[in-house]
Amino acid sequence: MTAPDYDAIVLGAGAAGLMCAAVAGQRRKRVLLLDHAEQVGKKILISGGGRCNFTNIHTAPDRFLSANPHFAKSALARYTPADFLALVERHGIAYHEKTLGQLFCDGSAKAIVAMLLDEADKAGVDVRTGQPVNDVTHADGKFTVRFGDQSFAAPALVIATGGPSIPKMGATGFAYDLARQFGLKVVEPRPALVPLTLGGDDVLFRDLSGVATPVEARAGKAAFREAALFTHKGLSGPAILQISSYWRHGEPVTIDFLPDAPQGWLTEAKRARPRATLASVLALPDRLAQTLADRLALPGELGALTDRKLAEAEARLARWPFRPNGTEGFAKAEVTVGGISTANLSSQTMMAKSVPGLYAVGEAVDVTGWLGGYNFQWAWASGHAAGQAL
Ligand SMILES: Cc1cc2nc3c(=O)[nH]c(=O)nc-3n(C[C@H](O)[C@H](O)[C@H](O)COP(=O)(O)OP(=O)(O)OC[C@H]3O[C@@H](n4cnc5c(N)ncnc54)[C@H](O)[C@@H]3O)c2cc1C
Repeated sequence: MTAPDYDAIVLGAGAAGLMCAAVAGQRRKRVLLLDHAEQVGKKILISGGGRCNFTNIHTAPDRFLSANPHFAKSALARYTPADFLALVERHGIAYHEKTLGQLFCDGSAKAIVAMLLDEADKAGVDVRTGQPVNDVTHADGKFTVRFGDQSFAAPALVIATGGPSIPKMGATGFAYDLARQFGLKVVEPRPALVPLTLGGDDVLFRDLSGVATPVEARAGKAAFREAALFTHKGLSGPAILQISSYWRHGEPVTIDFLPDAPQGWLTEAKRARPRATLASVLALPDRLAQTLADRLALPGELGALTDRKLAEAEARLARWPFRPNGTEGFAKAEVTVGGISTANLSSQTMMAKSVPGLYAVGEAVDVTGWLGGYNFQWAWASGHAAGQAL
């Protein structure tokens, strides 16, 4: 039996691959969508605590990390959160804004996968799952893919196999291997949106496991004002996950524990409550306040401390330096920073400049969003851009 002819093969039936295949199929392209997992869209299913934070209404290019900060602009402008929302509404999926523009399903993330599969199905996409993708070759203008014991060929191939975060979900670095095979560069992949680990002098803070407080976390020029959470390994919570994407080994992460306190608040507190201790005037969870006060080594009543000492303590509390000794790695990372170099791709179509017919979309590409629905928006937008170009 001869294999059917396809116009395009999309590798990876995750967020970006499903979108890309459906859009190309709607344009009457004959599309084959392949995934080594039995089930498509596994990361969608576990995302957002099972409710999928599928986009963010504040999507803007400056909320994405990439060696080329301009690369994502075109695709993001041509497929916006409103476009995805229109699709969600057409499928009657109820949703709500949780916080900071983050849109979640009211019910299960399963509805988003069902919606994408339905779109792909209506567009005649041939979806095949549960076999390893072995060999990919390119000759005479055709890409040939070995899928289990079958071979398929098409003049276009889309790499949509994501990044290596959460390998136990079937995530692999396959996209990078394939990109290198075709001569594309890969920007060093690092785990991102990931908890940071503490060692050395900072291990004491691990005793605060479970304590959370709103902070401003900074690394380099980046700053995020959200909650931080102490864990038995170090630091987590949204502020820390956000800053982890910008953090580099060896650098400090500074925390402002009282981001809303006005300057001079501690000397003010001394005037108002001279008999109080430092720990008792820190508007923080008790265990954290005590640990910080112990670290600052300013025992006794505030009235007995000089204004200079108090000003120094205030400055330290506003820029508390942690020196993370690492991250919890790809096993715990929500996404990957880095990936297939945007320098090798067209920002209009996601096609490789040096290999006509080869495309890369989604997390496989060196574009990484903030926490809060931005990564799915990139998957939808880049998948849509390639789907329109195939
Ligand atoms: C726990 C968790 C929660 C998250 N929550 C959110 C959220 O709420 N909002 C948000 O915006 N982002 C979230 N993300 C990030 C988001 O899931 C990813 O950015 C997004 O799924 C990337 O889409 P993608 O299509 O590029 O890759 P994926 O969705 O990872 O899809 C890749 C597909 O390729 C397949 N594949 C991999 N290797 C191979 C191979 N060798 N051969 C064949 N197929 C292969 C995989 O099985 C998978 O189906 C979360 C991530 C995690 C891990």
